[in-house]
Amino acid sequence: MFEIHLGDTVITRKNHPCGGNRWECVRTGADIKLKCLTCGRVIMLDREECQKRTKAILPAEREEHEQKEEPNL
Ligand SMILES: [Zn+2]
Repeated sequence: MFEIHLGDTVITRKNHPCGGNRWECVRTGADIKLKCLTCGRVIMLDREECQKRTKAILPAEREEHEQKEEPNL
């Protein structure tokens, strides 16, 4: 199962024409939108196509969503 989350950084096998190969996932669902981190262009791919093009996914830091558990003293 191909797992991708909003805000993750995707590294594609092929470079974008601008020379970059790092993308930010800006939308997930049936289709996945990726924004080129080099030139800012947004592309939309279906999941299968996205998976084919992906070399690696760097998960976003989700610290904002994490709830800090403070010890109850
Ligand atoms: Zn680009």
